[in-house]
Amino acid sequence: MIEVKETVFDRLGKRVRDAIVELGYSIPTPIQEKAIPPLLDGRDLIGCAQTGTGKTAAFLLPIIERLSDPKIPHNKPGHPRALVLSPTRELAAQTCENHVKYAKYTHTKYACVFGGVNQYSQVKDIRRGAEIVIATPGRLMDLMTQGEVYLDKIEYFVLDEADRMLDMGFLPDIRRVLSKLPVKKQSMFFSATLSPEILKLAGELVKDPVQVMISPETPTVDAINQKLMCVEKNNKDNLLCWLLEENPEWDKVIVFARTRHGADRVLKKLLKKKIAAAAIHSDKTQAQRTRALTGFKSGKLRVLVATDIASRGIDVPEVDLVVQMELPLETESYVHRIGRTARAGKGGAAIGFVAPEERVLVKAVERYIKKSIPVDRDQPYHVDVAGKDKGGLPTAPWIKGKKFRELAGEGQKGGKPHRRRGHGRRQPDFGQKARFS
Ligand code: AMP
Repeated sequence: MIEVKETVFDRLGKRVRDAIVELGYSIPTPIQEKAIPPLLDGRDLIGCAQTGTGKTAAFLLPIIERLSDPKIPHNKPGHPRALVLSPTRELAAQTCENHVKYAKYTHTKYACVFGGVNQYSQVKDIRRGAEIVIATPGRLMDLMTQGEVYLDKIEYFVLDEADRMLDMGFLPDIRRVLSKLPVKKQSMFFSATLSPEILKLAGELVKDPVQVMISPETPTVDAINQKLMCVEKNNKDNLLCWLLEENPEWDKVIVFARTRHGADRVLKKLLKKKIAAAAIHSDKTQAQRTRALTGFKSGKLRVLVATDIASRGIDVPEVDLVVQMELPLETESYVHRIGRTARAGKGGAAIGFVAPEERVLVKAVERYIKKSIPVDRDQPYHVDVAGKDKGGLPTAPWIKGKKFRELAGEGQKGGKPHRRRGHGRRQPDFGQKARFS
């Protein structure tokens, strides 16, 4: 007799289950396993997990299940019952796409609310009685001010990627939204990191929460084949083009650049080499970003060049390779970036470019991910980066306890790199002050 193992998905109603079975979700991911039962029981939740872990379904499925309960009367138009706040338009749009798939048979009405596009169709969806609103804070507040949407009937509230919200300066907006929510509601709080500031915000929102931690070093990251390539700064673009030309089988490649300017420069070089590519960063209009993302997802574009904030949360299935033109100054971003590949348990590859003067960044990342990343010397632009080839990098004595942003000159007057007096050795030169976009 074949034994059919029960999963947490069995606690969902048939209509929601049928939708996810069609999507091929037969086994819940760890966060779904841990979050769905308490959410269905009405508990508040703090989830420490990043995109790629299946967290969207972890909160959307229970919400859709509850919203589609036929015993509960329909909401009044303009007064949704569920609100999901997302830091970026891309993440909001993606969460909506998932909602459409999961609610295929429940027909739960929704509105996707974000700036950079005309509000007309968003308002129309709300007036038609959207039960769930998935929104970025700015546009949501515009519509609240205009009297198009009221949050007094919210029963389910999700704050997604709270750490990124704070990075982007949304804290005052979040507080305003929170002040409009009814006291009695079920709150779900998701963040990739749990700093004291994040925990303080979570404390204001959730009551007696269930905590679910999916650590960054879980199998998703382990499944990724990570490599470093050592290359002079001015040869990085050439190395990227060489990699793409040598490996035509890589159909979907995401390239991370630290700055908008850097992203545009890489894009120009790729287009000159006739490689189908587009860039997304905060200087691009919403229409340009959507076009780039759609082109990349559909396979029309082979390369998507992105900065961290613009790319956060983007879910593109089957990315073959993630290239980092520079390792990030914030070590957690390394895990976010490489997490674009190997989504939901699939393998993937990630290559980080390191110039000799950037070697201290490697040490920081390796310490963060708790493993050494091998150097691939089999490329035409290889240069020796002190220490790395001999199995590990020296820890620069001045770097201990310093934040990398500080080292890069961020947050200091004049943007000059910090220099330790009387040390005789030069600080690593990170070049121009980085602009995070
Ligand atoms: P997320 O972390 O929510 O962005 O999800 C990452 C990817 O995993 C998305 O492409 C989802 O469609 C997919 N996914 C989520 N849950 C499952 C599951 N249980 N089985 C297979 N794929 C899943």
